[in-house]
Order: sequence, then C-alpha cells, then structure tokens
Amino acid sequence: MPFAKLGLSSPLVQAITELGYKTPTPIQEQAIPAILSGKDLIATAQTGTGKTAAFVLPLLEQFSKAAEPLRGKRIRALILVPTRELAVQVEASVAQYAKHTPLTSMAAYGGVDTAPQKERLIEGVDILVATPGRLLDLAHQRALHFDELQVMVLDEADRMVDMGFVDDIHKIIVRLPENRQNLLFTATMTNDVRAIAHAFSDSKMTDMA
Ligand code: AMP
Repeated sequence: MPFAKLGLSSPLVQAITELGYKTPTPIQEQAIPAILSGKDLIATAQTGTGKTAAFVLPLLEQFSKAAEPLRGKRIRALILVPTRELAVQVEASVAQYAKHTPLTSMAAYGGVDTAPQKERLIEGVDILVATPGRLLDLAHQRALHFDELQVMVLDEADRMVDMGFVDDIHKIIVRLPENRQNLLFTATMTNDVRAIAHAFSDSKMTDMA
C-alpha cells in the first residue's frame, strides 16, 4: 500500500520517498490512519519497526493543515522520550519528515545550558521532543506554555518507567490541556505502563498491543 493511501499529503510523501521508504511498515499501516482520525493509541512496538514515522507523520499531516499560527512559547505536540540520545534522534527524524512543510521542531534535554533552548522556544515550536526533567525545568521557568498543545506522545514508555520517570510524567500530564490526543509507544506492556496509559488517557483508547 502506498503512503498516500494512508492519508498523507504530497509534502510528506515526497520527504519519505527521498529517504527511500517505498511501502509503510505494519505499525505505520495501522497507526497512521488511527492517529489521523484523532484517536488515542497505545501501541507495542520495538525499535526498528518504523514506529517513529508511525507517530510523527500523522502529527505533521494534522499540523500542516492548522489554520492558527503558532504563538510564542507554544507547542502543538510534545514527544516525551527517556534519553538525550533518543531526543536528538527523534527530532532529527521529525526534521527530515517535515522538510517540505513549514513546520518546526526542536529537542530539549538536560545536561546542557537551558538558555539556548529557552531562546529557541520564544517563537514557538510545532513539535517539541523532550526528556521529562528538562521539560519540567523549562515549564517551571515559564519558557513554554501548554495551552495550545494538541497531542502528547510517550515514546519508549517502559524505559521511562525503568528510569524512574513516572512521577515526572504525572507532573507533566497535569499541566497539559485535558482536550488532547494521547499516543503511547512501548516495547513491552507492563502494569506500570498500563497505569500511565490509564492516567493520561480515557475511554477513547485503542489498544493495538
Ligand atoms: P524506528 O523503528 O522508528 O527506530 O525506525 C527504524 C528505521 O527504519 C529508521 O532508520 C527509519 O528511517 C526506517 N524506516 C521507517 N519507516 C520505513 C519505511 N516505511 N520504509 C523503509 N524504512 C523505514
């Protein structure tokens, strides 16, 4: 099945064609239409299955149709990841897929000065990829506001649990608008992951695990 059949428009299809992707992977075939329909989603997916494109492409598709310009310090989507390396890697993928759109992205992680990240957020960013500690830090410093956030993604949720981020995730969730789309990806489905999914979602959840 070609990517365009999944509901992706030409700027995105062009970008993935340039990357050499010919057909969607199984997770992409399932997740892209579901996310485009606005559903919440829990998916069990290992690294290497194409899961990053599975959630990034529909976000870009939805946001490229956004009528409202992005206001300062605002983001449309938050992708939470457990490590700095993953933040850098996922943001690089977002930038590649968004290449032919006007949409913007950035990575925010700890261990480096907050000043350049705060500076970059002033104009607003469509997709922010962040580690939980730094995200909370930036929020406490009022460097970003969540009032226009539409989608929250938790990537590698089981690793987040293993690394002790459950409390931080809860602190983040309570700051987000209640009316949002929630997407959760995990390599393994554990009770701890289910508890997070339960905390941040509602009955709309589609369990693809
Ligand atoms: P991920 O599972 O998101 O870490 O992706 C694993 C690798 O697969 C990355 O290098 C992607 O660039 C690549 N990839 C993702 N989707 C496709 C696709 N449909 N066709 C070919 N390669 C892909």
